[in-house]
Amino acid sequence: MKIRSVLIANRGEIAVRINRACRTLGLRTVQVHSAADRDSLAVRLADRAIEIGPAPAAKSYLRIDAIIEAARASGADAVHPGYGFLAENGDFADAVAAAGLIFIGPDGDAIRLLGDKVAARQIAAEAGVPTVPGSTARLADVDAGLALAHRIGYPVMIKAAAGGGGRGIRVVHSAEEFARQFPQAAAEAAASFGDGGLYVEKMIESARHVEVQILGDGQRYVHCFERECSLQRRRQKVWEEAPAFDLPAEVRAQMCTAAVKLAARVDYQGAGTVEFLYDRATTSFYFIEVNTRIQVEHPVTEMITGLDLVAEMIRIAGGERLSIEQDDVVIHGHAIECRINAENPARNFLPGPGTIKSLKVPHAPDVRFDSMLFEGYTVPPFYDSLLGKLIVHGADRAACLTRLQSVLNELVIEGVPTTIALHAALAADASVAAGNIDTRFLEGWLPSQFP
Ligand code: ADP
Ligand code: ADP
Ligand code: MG
Repeated sequence: MKIRSVLIANRGEIAVRINRACRTLGLRTVQVHSAADRDSLAVRLADRAIEIGPAPAAKSYLRIDAIIEAARASGADAVHPGYGFLAENGDFADAVAAAGLIFIGPDGDAIRLLGDKVAARQIAAEAGVPTVPGSTARLADVDAGLALAHRIGYPVMIKAAAGGGGRGIRVVHSAEEFARQFPQAAAEAAASFGDGGLYVEKMIESARHVEVQILGDGQRYVHCFERECSLQRRRQKVWEEAPAFDLPAEVRAQMCTAAVKLAARVDYQGAGTVEFLYDRATTSFYFIEVNTRIQVEHPVTEMITGLDLVAEMIRIAGGERLSIEQDDVVIHGHAIECRINAENPARNFLPGPGTIKSLKVPHAPDVRFDSMLFEGYTVPPFYDSLLGKLIVHGADRAACLTRLQSVLNELVIEGVPTTIALHAALAADASVAAGNIDTRFLEGWLPSQFP
């Protein structure tokens, strides 16, 4: 493989995860970090750490020049962007390549193409993949949006073409509301994403979020089956599973084939995720977007397939062919991931940075805890509040839920508020156990649990 040393351009649990994958492959690691992350686990684990700026991400983790300079100075030959920060920035991928380094992910053109959610819808449609009824191009003005919304029927969603992380999406129930929301949505998108482009989608009511993991080396493309991510708050995932429960075999086959077709259409290189909304009543599914990076919830796929997706993406970037054929990817049992955040569910998820006083992590072959925590670590207030991900494997979903309850009971994190109690309540909930959930379930259920 062409790669010997990897610069990790991220922080938190995913930086730790990338470090582990590099060690598996026998690679050296260089960790860039902000002043706020000097004492982080990622810094401790790396062969070399380079401080690239002060705490605010705009002055550190988002500084392309400083990251490339650190790669040069340390002799790293590849850059792993993780998720968030610069992971879906095509200009970053280009700058890495222009500096003679390897970007671990698809090239800048593919990132830009698929990162534009309207362009991605067009590519999906061309590949014969069903998309949510809505725009075929960015909305020229409010009248174009009104005409389209009238044609597809309310409620609709106004979405930012460059949106992500659950931001830049508005639900609209009427023409008056549309006319009122449109200019605000455009202004907000321009301010948040540097791109005011908007599009419209029909709102799929009672949808489930089901997404397909793909891997491609530019010549061959495989899927690693799907994940169920319907338990969301503010359109951000809270709990994820693999595989999706109750998905009829033919729907699974169609969805996974659609994702592979889409990957092949753009000569995709690396790991990616094709997201869909699934309507259980009609068993229809609709493409929503592609994420051109490793995702937070990738471990549930690893638990059921035995693959190391991060190692796989490094190998592909290093010029190797995919190590697996489609038939090698087989589902074993069921896995659930709980995102443990430093937030208080009883106080409207108020984030609470602080120092970890006590940490007790359950260890067992069916349990995985991806985290950057250690006793004495201080969670800084500058970044997202993810503390770690508790992932549990079981022979089937029922066994997995039972196991999850006892494992959540064993997990102790003291010193900061956490969402462990939220996950314990979900794991014990009859509707969750019955699979009676959709993307709106969690927000409707919360007031009864955490008034
Ligand atoms: P996943 O499907 O992997 O959960 P998310 O959408 O939750 O993906 O994003 C993962 C991380 O990236 C989160 O920290 C999220 O806040 C961040 N993120 C993703 N897209 C954007 C964006 N366009 N702007 C800001 N943050 C983003
Ligand atoms: P992001 O780029 O922020 O991840 P997505 O387009 O993937 O945005 O949508 C995030 C979430 O918003 C979905 O998982 C789903 O819960 C909800 N959503 C998005 N589009 C629709 C739609 N057309 N109908 C219903 N829900 C939607
Ligand atoms: Mg999404």
